[in-house]
Amino acid sequence: MHTAPIHIACAGIEKVVATRDDLGVLLRLLARSGTGQPITSYTTHVNSPKPGGAMHVVLVDNGRTKRLADETMRSALHCIRCGACLNTCPVYRRSGGYSYGHVIQGPIGAILAPAVDLDAHASLPFASTLCGSCADVCPVRIDIPAQLLAWRARSAAAGRLPRGYSLLFPLVGWVLAARGRFAFAARWARRVQRLVPAAWLRGRWNPWTRPGRALPVLADETFREWTQRTGKRP
Ligand code: SF4
Repeated sequence: MHTAPIHIACAGIEKVVATRDDLGVLLRLLARSGTGQPITSYTTHVNSPKPGGAMHVVLVDNGRTKRLADETMRSALHCIRCGACLNTCPVYRRSGGYSYGHVIQGPIGAILAPAVDLDAHASLPFASTLCGSCADVCPVRIDIPAQLLAWRARSAAAGRLPRGYSLLFPLVGWVLAARGRFAFAARWARRVQRLVPAAWLRGRWNPWTRPGRALPVLADETFREWTQRTGKRP
């Protein structure tokens, strides 16, 4: 029982659980994946309004049925918001949960946000290394990296690639496609980093090197150069 005269509870339609047994499974999953506890510290169950009061449960769709009909992205609705993907993500661990401007944090937010507003969040799926750590820890086995890739493709198809990407990606692809070009680019990247004054690389024009974001110094030789020089193999 809730003490307010009128209790209005809102939940997404994907949060409806069929039975109390299912709820027990999900609560255990949530606690273990969220905080590493065997069970939650507390769970509130509300089943009726207080005498003379009223209780309303509002089930929110807000695009969820559309997502359900989308076979590629459907499994994102399985999310129980444990936060394990956020905690393991090498990007969000360093940048903080709300650093990318969407209310749902972390890798799961990066695949939910474009579905809500692709114009506003087209760049979000690109803020990922695709290391796969999020999919490894997800208790409900959402293949987040696959959906990040799918959203990147949809952003490109819709002409909403972040500024500069449509020029940069073909160039990077061309460099990476040939070993000689890659070795040449790696050699010159080191020289450029040593020759160009740091203030230029860290100017206001470059958001990646704003204060607090150190630009790592490139190694003196690449791994391939090291193996060639020493004759050693890992
Ligand atoms: S996507 Fe998986 S790991 Fe991330 S919050 Fe949802 S259930 Fe947890």
